[in-house]
Amino acid sequence: MRKHIVAGNWKMNNGLIQTKTLITELKKQEKTSDAEVMIAPTFTNLWHAFEATRQYDIEVIAQNMHFAESGAYTGEISAGMLKSIGVKTVILGHSERRAYFNETDESLAKKVDAALANDMRIIFCFGEELSDRKAGNEESIVERQIRNALFHLKSDAFKHIVLAYEPVWAIGTGETATPDQAQAMHAFIRKTLAEKYGNAIADSISILYGGSVKPNNAKEIFSKPDVDGGLIGGASLKAEDFFAIVNAF
Ligand code: 13P
Repeated sequence: MRKHIVAGNWKMNNGLIQTKTLITELKKQEKTSDAEVMIAPTFTNLWHAFEATRQYDIEVIAQNMHFAESGAYTGEISAGMLKSIGVKTVILGHSERRAYFNETDESLAKKVDAALANDMRIIFCFGEELSDRKAGNEESIVERQIRNALFHLKSDAFKHIVLAYEPVWAIGTGETATPDQAQAMHAFIRKTLAEKYGNAIADSISILYGGSVKPNNAKEIFSKPDVDGGLIGGASLKAEDFFAIVNAF
C-alpha cells in the first residue's frame, strides 16, 4: 500500500516564539490515522523544530534548498547543511518558488539531483495556472513539469520521491480543485509515470494534493483512490486544523 502523507508547509510564517508555541500545540494533538506527518518551518526554525519533535511522530522538513554543495551563493542553504541538522526531506518546485524566484524545470532538475546525491527524500511540487486550465492545457503543463525535472532519473530514485500536485489557482485562494478534478489529475500523473517507468513504480509513488485543503474538505479529497495525502499551507498553521486534516484519512 502507498504511504499516506500530510505535510504542513508553513511558508514564510512564524518566528521562533510562534514556532515554539505551534509545536507545543502540535504535540498535544492525537493522531488517529496512518498518515506520516511532516512540518516545514522556515530555515531559521528548523533546528529548534527538529530538536523539539525528536520523540514525536512528526518529521521536520525543509521548504527549499540550493543545488550546489557549498560556495559563493549568498543567502542560500545546501542539502548538506540541512542534513547536518537532521533534516532528511525537502520540498522542491513549489509554485511560489517558480513564480517569485525564477525556478525553472532546469534548475529544479539540478536541485533534484543534489537532493538525491545527499540521500534526501523530495516532495516535488508542480501544477498548472488558471489560464492553463481554462485553455484545457493542464495535463500537458503538468506532464512537462514532471518530465523535465524528473525523467532523467533512474527508476531507483523514485523510492525517494513524493509528488505534490498543487494547481496554482487553488493555492491560498480558498478555491479547491474538486475531489474529482484532483483524482483525474492524479490518475493522469500516475499514468504518465507508468508509461515511462512501469506500473510498479507508478503504483508505489505517493501523490499529494495541495491547494486550500481544510478540515472540512480533506476527507472527501483523501477518499479518492489516487490521492495519497496533502500538502497543506494555511491550515497547517493551526494545530487543531492541521491534525483534523491528518486524521481525515
Ligand atoms: P494553501 O493550503 O494555503 O492553499 O497552500 C497550499 C500550498 O501551497 C502548500 O504548499
